[in-house]
Amino acid sequence: MKPGMKICALFGDPVEQSLSPDMHNAAFKDKGINYLYIASRVIPSSLKQAIEGSRALGIHGLNITIPHKVSVMELLDEIDEASRQIGAVNTVVNEGGVLKGYNTDALGFTKALESKNINPRGKQTVVLGAGGASMAVSYALVTAGAKVTIMNRLAHLDAASRLASRLSVFSNDPVEAVALNSDNLERYLATTELLVNATSVGMYPGESRSLVPTHLLRQDMIVFDLIYNPLQTKLLSDAAQAGAQTINGLEMLVWQGALAFELWTGLAPPIGVMRSEALKTLEEGSPARTSPRATRRKKARNSVALIGFMGAGKTTVARIISAKTGKRLVEMDRLIEINAGESIPKIFSAKGEVAFREMEIEVTREIAGINNQVVSCGGGVILNKINIDRLKEFAVVVYLEVNLDEIMKRMQSQQIEKPVLRDENDLDEVKELFEFREPFYKAYADITINSTLLTAEEAAEEIITRLADYELRN
Ligand code: NAP
Repeated sequence: MKPGMKICALFGDPVEQSLSPDMHNAAFKDKGINYLYIASRVIPSSLKQAIEGSRALGIHGLNITIPHKVSVMELLDEIDEASRQIGAVNTVVNEGGVLKGYNTDALGFTKALESKNINPRGKQTVVLGAGGASMAVSYALVTAGAKVTIMNRLAHLDAASRLASRLSVFSNDPVEAVALNSDNLERYLATTELLVNATSVGMYPGESRSLVPTHLLRQDMIVFDLIYNPLQTKLLSDAAQAGAQTINGLEMLVWQGALAFELWTGLAPPIGVMRSEALKTLEEGSPARTSPRATRRKKARNSVALIGFMGAGKTTVARIISAKTGKRLVEMDRLIEINAGESIPKIFSAKGEVAFREMEIEVTREIAGINNQVVSCGGGVILNKINIDRLKEFAVVVYLEVNLDEIMKRMQSQQIEKPVLRDENDLDEVKELFEFREPFYKAYADITINSTLLTAEEAAEEIITRLADYELRN
């Protein structure tokens, strides 16, 4: 530690998976200031001593996370007005021994909406959950003029009711609290314009879960999931498939951190640095500190990327491989939709193929280096060599080959998304595109599997076997 260094700390339980230390330390370094951010696991029964200890040690700033955002309030000297109204604090500034509490989650959420040009005023909004995050987000929505219904599990409906009645003071419309069950989801989502998931359902390692049945998601909805690990939750994936605009929790995470940075340092936060550091930490898998050597080892090629023509079954096969091996499933096209907040057909029609290919390059960069994934690539990923170079840094590239006749049959008999075609029903165009792309698939593949006569299950098994063999030989 350098003399005169100012310390900021995160208090919570757990804190091991937090992205904040990397994000803040990168920001301090970028600004060239003598600050250090550390994460400290504090169990509920030790919170009082931890706060007193931070005062005694002259800790400059704190972030407060689960489960202390509410209980910390009575231990502080001052609370700013918005945090008092929200009922939770996530940031503390030590101003000459006076501990002052703030909440940057609410404004962080607002900034994330603004970054997508979304104004919640007048929007029928459902917030799932009534915990610390929901308190901040519901406050931000109500004070911005949204019409808010908060849903929480029946066992803890009282928490939602208390929150709703506290927030009703700020709203012309009543803020409702209702039980989170299938009847209410069906009833309320029928008119919902903005849906916010502020529960932990869908968060790693439970990423296959979503509280919302897919048939309730619509094209004219905006779906915001506060979760950022994974970036593509099942809820967002389902919403994108329904054509809804989707937003993940990364932008809110970055903004709540940036606003805390500003409170501690008085400096303008380096948003870009914080965003890319948070992404990098997410990409490297568990942010638990590892040695540089261990990090390098983690980047060995133990991911797999499936390439191939549309209709080859890459996503189905990738899902099976993921289920059989525990590798994390990444559907590149879905990730593009999440980042863009639009479906792929919409991106093609509104922005054109060139813009789509740029998004594809960006997403390949985003996922590059992540350990132990199975990536289902878009059919055109081979069109930019930089994508293949990035994929090959961390993944074995497998070409899922299917003969042209079979592709043609699938095009006619199955619902296959093909926005890249000028005319969806023109089989000559399919043939032309296939013949153009096939040499690239073959040239770039580390392994080629011809799955024309295989079921998806058989193709997945074949890939798993060939991968083991490939790993032994390389
Ligand atoms: P929290 O205070 O523990 O609240 C969790 C909420 O999830 C509660 O409403 C809880 O309902 C609900 N929940 C948990 N399991 C459920 C289940 N199986 N079915 C239905 N509801 C369930 O946590 P939090 O701080 O509010 O965080 C919630 C999520 O937001 C987390 O995933 C967190 O990562 C994310 N978050 C993101 C940001 C960001 O910057 N992007 C910031 C804060 C939080 P009960 O009351 O019934 O238990």
